Amino acid sequence: MQAAAIATLSAKVHGRVIDPECSEYDVARKVYNGMIDRYPAAIVYCANVVDVTAAVNFARQERLAVAIRSGGHNGAGFGVCDHGLVLDLSAMKSVTVDPARRTVRVGPGCTQGDVDQATHAFGLAVPAGIVSTTGIAGLTLGGGHGYLTRKYGLTIDNLIEADVVLSNGTFVTANASRHEDLFWALRGGGGNFGVVTGYVYQGHPVSTVYAGPIFWDAKDARLVMQWYREFLMRAPLELCPFLGLKTVPSADPFPKEHWGKKVCALICCYSGPLEHAEEVVKPIRQELPPPILDWIGPMPFPAIQSLFDPLLPTGLQWYWKGDFVKELTDKAIDKHLEFAAQAPSKLSLMHLYPIDGAVHHVRPNETAWSFRDATWSMVIAGIDPDPAKAESLRTWAKRYWEAVHPYTLGGAYINFMMDEGVDRIKATYQGNYDRLLEIKRKYDPTNFFRVNQNIVQTDARSG
Ligand SMILES: Cc1cc2nc3c(=O)[nH]c(=O)nc-3n(C[C@H](O)[C@H](O)[C@H](O)COP(=O)(O)OP(=O)(O)OC[C@H]3O[C@@H](n4cnc5c(N)ncnc54)[C@H](O)[C@@H]3O)c2cc1C
Repeated sequence: MQAAAIATLSAKVHGRVIDPECSEYDVARKVYNGMIDRYPAAIVYCANVVDVTAAVNFARQERLAVAIRSGGHNGAGFGVCDHGLVLDLSAMKSVTVDPARRTVRVGPGCTQGDVDQATHAFGLAVPAGIVSTTGIAGLTLGGGHGYLTRKYGLTIDNLIEADVVLSNGTFVTANASRHEDLFWALRGGGGNFGVVTGYVYQGHPVSTVYAGPIFWDAKDARLVMQWYREFLMRAPLELCPFLGLKTVPSADPFPKEHWGKKVCALICCYSGPLEHAEEVVKPIRQELPPPILDWIGPMPFPAIQSLFDPLLPTGLQWYWKGDFVKELTDKAIDKHLEFAAQAPSKLSLMHLYPIDGAVHHVRPNETAWSFRDATWSMVIAGIDPDPAKAESLRTWAKRYWEAVHPYTLGGAYINFMMDEGVDRIKATYQGNYDRLLEIKRKYDPTNFFRVNQNIVQTDARSG
């Protein structure tokens, strides 16, 4: 991009514009996933809605692709692109809680932790993700699941309203009675429809929870997985136990004698009345072999939400693939155990997040997010700090995914996908894809917003 064009954009926005000539460029083009290495024409740090509108209009006039970056956590790295303009919204942080209505207005630059901290002060929480550094913006538009999902639904099921800057630069508010079609599409359709500059959520009374991890040695993994698939059906919806096949981190506070051991984990969060908590988790403690570590106990909700942050700093190499799972069959468990045993690094993992309960109370065509009958959202993630391991992370995650894919529902949570092509996106939206296409044509007829899990008729990309 010409210096004159950069100067024009700089004059129009309050935030800084960083181009390849700036010393900050190499830092500014980075996203959370260290595997992503892209060179945008410029990065504009939007300070407010006016900046977003100016940047959208500028990119359209200059025929630049636009990458929207809020938390920058997207695995496929859609928060940055080659040659185009990155709209960085990280400075647009604000959280306003209305304790009477239990509603929460959030700016797109907020992380999960920003929202948790602010709502916790009022004894509330918004159902969303489980790692505090994740951007609430991208997480919401993909669907959003976490510890409160079984009880209160996906993040999109708690989205009341969204403010959006469209590709033609106009500003609209979408909710149940205004731009209903756009509101429908935003709830699961990702960043396809515009730049969301404000979100309003329904909060719920959640404060101190009974939560934490419990690990069993890998020799007990089959038994734990078989038990877990039955237990989930009888567990109260206030309890979210997600299952992981992992390795004990070689770091404090994990006991040294367990460092590097392969384990099967249940990471639990019970958000119901504390006096019932011990009783609710009792089956986990009584019906299974003795664990090597049991750290479940009372803690403030933001504490469980940030428990894994130190293990997952920005810049690690990530390659992940997902699928929705209805049943965890013995044959699928065989494959899980086979591939988990071959994990290429200590951070690599497989997680099964429950998406039953309240998620099933919404019909598949009520929002863009169609897999309302799945029991779990599965992710297989190859993770390591060392770029030299990138290929082995990718190979392991792909081979693992190929082995278990036949035992899944076929589509995946779009926020657990790399850039995998249109067939995978269609498989994810199932019967909702055609309506998404219609709404895309109405609100973004030129496919201006295409750096995402793109809703298009055809797509030559594959990953
Ligand atoms: C460590 C980690 C933990 C995670 N845990 C969970 C979890 O518990 N639950 C869960 O559901 N997901 C989880 N995720 C996945 C997460 O939802 C996605 O990575 C999501 O894309 C992150 O959003 P972001 O704003 O940080 O991403 P970004 O990289 O900033 O944005 C990703 C894409 O989202 C769209 N987008 C972002 N902001 C906007 C906006 N304001 N307007 C329009 N489009 C926008 C754009 O298409 C953009 O390219 C996790 C990810 C990581 C890395």
